[in-house]
This record gives sequence, structure tokens and C-alpha cells, in this order.
Amino acid sequence: TTGIKRVLSIQSHVVHGYVGNKVATFPLQLLGFDVDPLNSVQFSNHTGYKTFKGPISTELELANIFEGLEENNLLGHYSHLLTGYIGNPLFLRKVGEILRKIRKANPSLIYVCDPVMGDNGSMYVPKELLPVYRDEIIPLADIVTPNQYEVELLTGKEVRSEAAVWEAMDWFHERKIKTVVISSSDLGQPGILRAFLSQINGPRLAIDIPKQGDKDLFFTGTGDLFASLFLAHSHASGDVTEAFEKTIATLQAVIKRTVEQLPRRATAVQAWERELKLMQSKSEIEHPKVMLKAERI
Ligand code: ATP
Ligand code: PLP
Ligand code: MG
Ligand code: MG
Repeated sequence: TTGIKRVLSIQSHVVHGYVGNKVATFPLQLLGFDVDPLNSVQFSNHTGYKTFKGPISTELELANIFEGLEENNLLGHYSHLLTGYIGNPLFLRKVGEILRKIRKANPSLIYVCDPVMGDNGSMYVPKELLPVYRDEIIPLADIVTPNQYEVELLTGKEVRSEAAVWEAMDWFHERKIKTVVISSSDLGQPGILRAFLSQINGPRLAIDIPKQGDKDLFFTGTGDLFASLFLAHSHASGDVTEAFEKTIATLQAVIKRTVEQLPRRATAVQAWERELKLMQSKSEIEHPKVMLKAERI
């Protein structure tokens, strides 16, 4: 490695709350990375609230910002490109062009692609993004972090068993993607989220995560936080097992603090109350305490 630690992070910005660049920037900075956030949208809040407002960036705006970086010869300064929530297929296609140019300026660039498309059986971005991710973007990635549903969309196959998970991992490896991480899955074991990691010519790992909080409680931004932490830890350590364990350790600490600070009352938890306690978890981001160890499959 060259010693540079600077991430171009193309994700959403929310004014209130913690998803996208709002959840990724602080941990990356704490772990020693310069972060250049490029916002794919600027929303009032994440899409899980009653309403959300704000502009979606176009491919022309993206191209224009990128031109500025290019004309100032800044492309060679990036060690990593990280992409998350992108709401329009033309914008995504432009990301592909940008990636090629950055890679030309720094051939050792690592591209971490979180192909954010949906969760629990439904898509929350236009369906036209799927073929662009599958055929144009994913094949350019070094590390991908899809969730279980996104794996099903990309591979075109149901993933309902552990055997199906490993088969799906090979679909990515056949496309030369070195590292695939499925940050959580529900394979029918009650109260357990199982995370998986597979590397070409490397280990196959799994971690069972006891689900925190009430049965129907869920968090937003955890997938984005996972991708940023995994980027940082996998760069710091040549040991992918350690990177996987540390990433999950920090997530568990952030979620624990978030759950502990929920109001104790019978009525439903509001979206703003479920926002991740991110900066309150500064010390667990800097010094993850590994409690859940990876199992080597
Ligand atoms: P996406 O955010 O794209 O939906 P995903 O479905 O894989 O991705 P999550 O289910 O949010 O993402 O999981 C990401 C990480 O967050 C998991 O690896 C786990 O560490 C943590 N996590 C999320 N929800 C919980 C929970 N209820 N209890 C414990 N850990 C959780
Ligand atoms: N960005 C925005 C604007 C969102 O609304 C969401 C989810 O609602 C996300 C990103 C992704 O969040 P997560 O990390 O839970 O996948
Ligand atoms: Mg999820
Ligand atoms: Mg996600």
C-alpha cells in the first residue's frame, strides 16, 4: 500500500439523522481516513420517516463536481471509492465512468460497492438500477456489501439457506470480486442475524449476531455504517477475519447504546428515536471490543 488513506464517498446526505454519508464520514475520520463526501441526494431525513423532502443529484451535477476534482489533479489522491444509496440509473452509470478515471490515476484504488436497492423483499430504488449494478458496476468492485435481498436481486436466485449463500458468493467471485460480505441475513433461526464473508482464495466466515431490541424494532443506517467500518478495518489489517469481527463489534456497541436510550413506553418507537447513537459511540468506533468471533466454514 502507498500509505494514502482518502475515501471518495458517494452516498446520500440527510440533514437530520444518520444514514449514508452522515453515518459513514465520522467513523472513517476517527479511523484515520480523509473523507471527501459527494452527496447523491440531500434529504431532510431518511426515507423511513412519514415524509422526506429534498433534491436528488443528477448525473450532470455529478459530472460537473467530478470535473472540478479532475481539473485540479486530485484523482490520484484517493485510496478508496465507497458508494451507497444512489436513486437514479444515469447517475449510477456515471459513477462507473468516474471509477475508471480514478483507477487510471491510482491503479491500486479499492472500490467498495454497497449496492443499495432494497430490503426484506421490496426495492426502494427504481428497478432500472438493478441491471446497471449487475452488469456494469459490480464487476468493477473489489469489495461488495449487499444484503440478503440485494444478493437475490443480483444473482436472480433465492437465498434461503446457507448452501444458497455460498453459491451466491461464487456468483460474485466468478465476476472477479475478491471480497463479498453479507452483513446480515435471516435464514429462519429466530432471534439470530447471520453475517457472512467470502474471499477468493481466502476464508469463508460466518458470525451469528443475536438480534438486539424488540422483535419488530429495526435500524436504518446500519448497512451504511457496516460498509464504512469494513472499508477502514480491512485496510488497516491484512486479516479479513479481524476486520469482519471488529466491524460487527462496533455495530453491536452502537446498536446497544441506541436501544438503551429508547423511551420506555408502550406506544410505537418513532423514526427519530431509532436514529443511531453514532458520535456517542466514539470510543467503540476507535477501540472495538470483539465479543462475537467469526466461525471458519
Ligand atoms: P441494509 O442496511 O442494506 O438493509 P443489511 O440488511 O445487511 O443491509 P442490517 O440488517 O441493518 O443491514 O445489518 C447490518 C449490521 O447491523 C449487522 O451486521 C449487525 O451487526 C447490525 N444489526 C442491524 N440490526 C441489528 C439488530 N436488531 N440487532 C443486532 N445487530 C443488528
Ligand atoms: N440513504 C437514505 C437516504 C435512506 O433513506 C436509507 C434508508 O432508508 C439509506 C441510505 C440506507 O440505510 P441502510 O444503511 O439501513 O441500508
Ligand atoms: Mg437490512
Ligand atoms: Mg444497505
